[in-house]
Amino acid sequence: MSELAQLHDQVRACPLCRLSTTRTLAVPGEGPESPEVLFVGEAPGYHEDQQGRPFVGAAGQFLEALLASAGLRRADVYITNIVKCRPPNNRDPQPDEVAACRPYLDRQIALLRPRLVVTLGRHSMQIAFPGASITRIHGQAKRVGDVVYLPMFHPAAALHQARYRALIEQDFLTIPALLAQLEPVEPAEPEDGGPPEQLSLF
Ligand code: URA
Ligand code: SF4
Repeated sequence: MSELAQLHDQVRACPLCRLSTTRTLAVPGEGPESPEVLFVGEAPGYHEDQQGRPFVGAAGQFLEALLASAGLRRADVYITNIVKCRPPNNRDPQPDEVAACRPYLDRQIALLRPRLVVTLGRHSMQIAFPGASITRIHGQAKRVGDVVYLPMFHPAAALHQARYRALIEQDFLTIPALLAQLEPVEPAEPEDGGPPEQLSLF
C-alpha cells in the first residue's frame, strides 16, 4: 500500500478531535499520487460526510466547472480539506480542530509534492497566509518554501454571491499560465529513518 493510501486509512480511523464523534465518514481527500495541483477546501459537508469523498455536492459541481475553465479535469487534481471530518450543522471548524488535523494536510503536501496548492476560502487560506484578508489577496500566488500557494474564494460562497463568483472565475483562468511558469517539484529525498518531512511552512 502506498504511503498516501496508508495516510487515508489513518484519517478514516482518526480519533484526534471531537469531530470524530459526530462524523459519519472521514474524508481524507482523493486524486492522483503525483498531481500538479492540490486543492484545499474547508471541511466536508453533508454529502461528503455521507460518501467519504470531498466536494461531491453543489460546491463540487461548481468546482468541476471551474476546473474545466482552467483546462483541468477533476481526475487530474488532488482535492482535500483542512479539516477531514464534518463539523456538526456545517459550523466553522474550530481552531483546535484545525490544529489537530493540520499534520494530515502537511503530510499530504509532502507526499504529493504538487507544483501549486490552491486554497479555497478563508479557512484554508490560513495555511499559507495567516491573518490575511481574502478579498485583498485572492488570486495572488506566493511561494512558501517548496510550494506555491494561490488563495481563492470558496466555491460555495461564490455560488451564492455574484461578485465572488465573477472573481473566482477570473482567478481560475490564471492557473494555466501560472502552472506553465512553475518548475516541477524535485522528487523527495529517500527517507533515511531520520525525522519525518522537513516541510516548514512558516
Ligand atoms: N465544501 C468544502 O469546503 N469541502 C468539501 O469537501 C465540500 C464542500
Ligand atoms: Fe482527526 Fe481531522 Fe477528523 Fe479531527 S477532523 S477527527 S483531527 S481527521
